[in-house]
Amino acid sequence: MMIEEEIVIIGGGIAGLATALALKRVGFQSRVLERNPELRAGGTALTLLTNAWFALRALGVDHKLKSVYQPINKSLVTNLDTGAVQELGFSGTKENREDAGVITVHRKALLETLAEELPPDTIRFSSKLISIKSETLKDSTKATLLHLEDGTVIKSKVVIGCDGVHSAVAQWLGLSQPLSSGRWAARGLAVFPEGHGLNHGVKQYLSAGTRAGFVTINSKEIYWFVVTYSSLEKDISTNPELLLEEVEKNLAKDLPSEFLTIVKETDLSTLSWVPLLFRAPWNIAFCKAQNGCVTIAGDAMHPMTPDLAQGGCSALEDAIILARCISQAHPMATNDKQWLEKALKRYVEERRWRVTWLVAGAWLAGWVQQGGGGDQQWWSGMARWFRDRIESDLELDWAIDIPEIIGTEHGPYGQFQSQTGEEPFITVNHQGYPKFIFFNEKD
Ligand SMILES: Cc1cc2nc3c(=O)[nH]c(=O)nc-3n(C[C@H](O)[C@H](O)[C@H](O)COP(=O)(O)OP(=O)(O)OC[C@H]3O[C@@H](n4cnc5c(N)ncnc54)[C@H](O)[C@@H]3O)c2cc1C
Repeated sequence: MMIEEEIVIIGGGIAGLATALALKRVGFQSRVLERNPELRAGGTALTLLTNAWFALRALGVDHKLKSVYQPINKSLVTNLDTGAVQELGFSGTKENREDAGVITVHRKALLETLAEELPPDTIRFSSKLISIKSETLKDSTKATLLHLEDGTVIKSKVVIGCDGVHSAVAQWLGLSQPLSSGRWAARGLAVFPEGHGLNHGVKQYLSAGTRAGFVTINSKEIYWFVVTYSSLEKDISTNPELLLEEVEKNLAKDLPSEFLTIVKETDLSTLSWVPLLFRAPWNIAFCKAQNGCVTIAGDAMHPMTPDLAQGGCSALEDAIILARCISQAHPMATNDKQWLEKALKRYVEERRWRVTWLVAGAWLAGWVQQGGGGDQQWWSGMARWFRDRIESDLELDWAIDIPEIIGTEHGPYGQFQSQTGEEPFITVNHQGYPKFIFFNEKD
């Protein structure tokens, strides 16, 4: 069966759904292909920092999550090697400290919030992409043929690969395979039906070779993680009982009892064990992440280690910028057949250095925080030296508190003409961000 679509997004994760929504906000319809039969959110929860909230606001959905989840104002970081405890404050933005800065949400809730804003049937489930081919049309523009596992072939004008760290689209574009950081993460959600009784916040523990922590999501659920250099001898990632035992008896055995008490209450269905992968920063800086009208976003373009909690946040940024580039280029459509290609090229150039620095910064932060692996090599000693002297109040503003990435003087999407005649944007209250003066603003 052959189907024609204007814009196809591969992958219904954070990047894919946010891109579909951002495109909708500027009046373009798209089709999202997701290989799973439903929205899947491995990893249970994630922390969204200020830049993600700017993006969610621009998507018009931040209020839905903020009404359910509470901001976190501080994190306590204990250096288990020295016993030092530092307090890291991270509420609000530079301009407005009252605004949401850091909030941990259920991944599923984020995906559902994005998906419910899309027109029905936007997401085509059980649709796994298996190969891509390019075809030149009579008017000398290109179309892309997407072959799906179920035998369907989709002919599309624009393809946006949001298919995660092992992206088939990134591979087709010629990007290198992600690298292993040599570190692994175990994660889970502990559930306390009667309430956990802890104050809302984050606690982290650093020791040579290990970083662990937990964050309260609400009064009954706590998300925890352990990041370690040691891989497991056997692959027990699909056996939650054995994995939990491994965390309790091995990976977290030297962590404070408070942490182990939480781990014991883990809902086994939420446990996961994953390698931490990243794309080499030089590969992102110099790759060709766009070919004709095919490009990539999210982990497909810039997989990074989770040490700055920026993978999902920067995927949300990608979505807004991609939609902005397309909407701003659209007026050229009548006299420039290459306008879409140019728009995607501009998107890649706008994102390239931003995400290169995030990937490099995340890797470096992880290396320092975990004392370079904790072995006796000179570089591990250097990493520990840095870690033990660095102020916990790390200046993360460079990475997260930059509304200019999302906003322009004409709002997050720039000035645009809606393609479908639908109201371009916006129904939510976005006070506190005077820079975001939206086109056709109502409130
Ligand atoms: C341990 C850990 C902790 C993290 N913590 C945070 C955090 O606190 N904050 C944060 O912002 N980020 C965090 N991240 C990073 C974050 O999880 C990712 O950056 C984010 O999920 C990327 O979203 P994505 O949509 O690009 O990719 P994914 O979430 O991987 O989504 C890709 C989608 O594409 C689909 N797909 C794949 N291949 C195909 C195909 N061939 N055909 C059709 N569909 C396909 C998949 O099924 C999936 O639904 C963390 C990552 C890890 C590993």
